[in-house]
Amino acid sequence: MPDLRDHTSLRLGGPARRWVEATTEDELVAAVSAADEAGEPVLVLGGGSNLVVADDGFPGTVVEVATRGVTADVDASGGPSCSGATVTVAAGEDWDQLVAEAVRRGWVGIEALSGIPGSVGATPIQNVGAYGQEVSQTIARVRVWDRVLRGVRTFAASECDFGYRASRFKADPGRHVVLDVTFQFRQGSLGAPVRYAELARTLGVAEGGRAPLADVRAAVLDLRRGKGMVLDPVDHDTWSAGSFFTNPFLTAEQVAALPDDAPRWKQPDGTWKSSAAWLIDRAGFGKGWTSPAAGERVRLSTKHTLALTNRGGATTDELLTLAREVRDGVRDAFGVTLVNEPVTVGCSL
Ligand SMILES: Cc1cc2nc3c(=O)[nH]c(=O)nc-3n(C[C@H](O)[C@H](O)[C@H](O)COP(=O)(O)OP(=O)(O)OC[C@H]3O[C@@H](n4cnc5c(N)ncnc54)[C@H](O)[C@@H]3O)c2cc1C
Repeated sequence: MPDLRDHTSLRLGGPARRWVEATTEDELVAAVSAADEAGEPVLVLGGGSNLVVADDGFPGTVVEVATRGVTADVDASGGPSCSGATVTVAAGEDWDQLVAEAVRRGWVGIEALSGIPGSVGATPIQNVGAYGQEVSQTIARVRVWDRVLRGVRTFAASECDFGYRASRFKADPGRHVVLDVTFQFRQGSLGAPVRYAELARTLGVAEGGRAPLADVRAAVLDLRRGKGMVLDPVDHDTWSAGSFFTNPFLTAEQVAALPDDAPRWKQPDGTWKSSAAWLIDRAGFGKGWTSPAAGERVRLSTKHTLALTNRGGATTDELLTLAREVRDGVRDAFGVTLVNEPVTVGCSL
């Protein structure tokens, strides 16, 4: 029986009671429905890059989404400003391969999301984002199997409740199995306006300026590699689930209590977003940190304080010990309780 340890980017987890690899949409729906009818717990698995699974594994059916297919409806009639591409992608397709294809074909809007591991079907779950882009900006609709209503439903982007690392799918865990995602891209050779200072600097454009799609992808991949944020089997700094904590949203009172140089960005709703990486670092948890309790087999990445990593042979218990120490240390230092970004299965912080 496959082990979740071999199917997660953290290389942590344990055995599953049952495992089904679904290569067609019918198989996917049938596998989930059969488990539901039998009262068996279900874990829908994409690339395993946002999962922390208990050492005991999963006492139910893992349904691995391996569906394939990309259908593009490209409008070539208009000029560059009005032509678009409507692209429907099966949930099991690899996300970064889609980004590469988009850059090659001149589909604008996901180039800054280069190098994010995992499947297309998982991207709407937490509304993946990086370097000033979020997938919600180009999603037109998401088609799902609703396990409660037992039917296929289509949600327009406006119905998905997308927010920062949030969606209706994440808010109602496990209910919706994403079958495919439809994107609406503008077409062109330049990427979308660059909304991230570090990326704009790297590209030599002003914030809000634009650069060729391929240049944006190359710059993002370079920046991400420097932070250990592109999977690399020989680099333990990438044996992670990406950022372990989300950036916190704070009240005016909380933000006033932070040191003057703490990053803060005012939000339209009056709250303030701060930087989890900065708070972790300033609370005393530098790159490469671990503690006697967590042990040597887990550490903060040596390239980025926000990634918790498996140095080889670690257990989920050890990783969670490290995560709790970081969370509690930040809370003691700044009164801010960080929340984990990856989905925990059979365990919690
Ligand atoms: C090195 C690294 C860098 C990362 N960088 C980023 C980043 O920059 N930005 C960012 O947002 N994320 C980032 N991540 C997190 C992760 O890559 C994304 O969240 C990704 O979308 C997860 O895809 P997956 O297929 O691996 O999902 P999994 O890890 O397999 O699953 C994650 C969750 O989604 C659910 N799920 C998966 N597929 C489906 C489906 N078809 N239908 C319903 N539910 C489903 C699972 O049940 C689970 O709850 C990074 C991770 C790593 C390891």
